[in-house]
Amino acid sequence: MSKKAEKKEAPKKGEEPKKETKKTEEAPVEAPKEEAKPAKPEKAPKPEKKKKVEKGIYTLYKIESEKVVRLRPICERCGPGYFMADHGNRYTCGHCGFTKYKPTKE
Ligand SMILES: [Zn+2]
Repeated sequence: MSKKAEKKEAPKKGEEPKKETKKTEEAPVEAPKEEAKPAKPEKAPKPEKKKKVEKGIYTLYKIESEKVVRLRPICERCGPGYFMADHGNRYTCGHCGFTKYKPTKE
């Protein structure tokens, strides 16, 4: 039985407290002001852009008497969670490209 548990805790000598190197003295960078602008051809005012109304996923659901009704068919390949886009006469899946034609009524 020989215990060789000699913990050498060498006292750290000359350990100086680290000085926090903060960049405190930073000259405020001033953007060079363009006082004398070169002659620019004046642009016509931009035409106002029409804001696109983003369709959320909530548009695909409808609540009818405490039940969720999905307004789009679900992709047969991808399974639930993947809606198919309504293209008038057909539905397509944006995930796998599956296309399903609507039953035509005649
Ligand atoms: Zn799909």
